[in-house]
Amino acid sequence: MLAEHMTWVEYQEAVKKIVILPLGAFEQHGPHLPLNVDVVIPSRLAECAAEQLEGMVLPAINYGYKSQPTSGGGPLFPGTTSLDGETLIHLILDILRDTYRHGGRKFLLLNGHYENMAFATEAVDLFLREAKDARLVILAWWDIVSEKLVKEIWAEAGFPGWDTEHASIAETSLMLYFTPEHVRVDKIVDDQSERTPPYAIFPPPADIVPKSGVLYKATYASQAKGEMLAKEITESIVRIVRQELA
Ligand code: ZN
Ligand code: MN
Repeated sequence: MLAEHMTWVEYQEAVKKIVILPLGAFEQHGPHLPLNVDVVIPSRLAECAAEQLEGMVLPAINYGYKSQPTSGGGPLFPGTTSLDGETLIHLILDILRDTYRHGGRKFLLLNGHYENMAFATEAVDLFLREAKDARLVILAWWDIVSEKLVKEIWAEAGFPGWDTEHASIAETSLMLYFTPEHVRVDKIVDDQSERTPPYAIFPPPADIVPKSGVLYKATYASQAKGEMLAKEITESIVRIVRQELA
């Protein structure tokens, strides 16, 4: 199901089914998680869903739109490497155009980085001006987690909102489930910024970003929570794709 492992002979059949493009980022995720969390999570979810949908997963976009202080820690952490909006729009658009040229018509853009959403939407809007018979779904994995599961997983810690959940319970749990070998469990911390203004400040003052890069309580993460999240999200992706792109 991974396009990168296919020959062109296999690809030319697979591209006619559901095509999934994971959208990621290269961004700090605290002292305990690797820089590619936002790539790993949607890529692994895409593989799980593609297995049931007989879909094809394209190579993920490994960089994303600029990390913002209150949803990703922002640009000042070493490693965080982001794209201009124009670059990201055209990267997605170029991939969609060429995949369409090869016969792709049904696309799922599976987003793993909070700041990407508007740019993915713009790329799809531009794409549809030419590709009149294409159909697409854009979804961010956190947006389809049920209220019931949120209540269960955040029962002890309290749910702070998805933007603040960066490098915290959901991402740490999913990484413990998908690639535990990449989680530095002895470095997991709870943290929060001194204040969280409901507006953006440029350049960002230091007190709106926690020093660790963890925006909430990562110690409440567990592999079991990661498994619950991964299973529910995969089921929902499969259901949504069958409903919207059948
Ligand atoms: Zn992330
Ligand atoms: Mn992110």
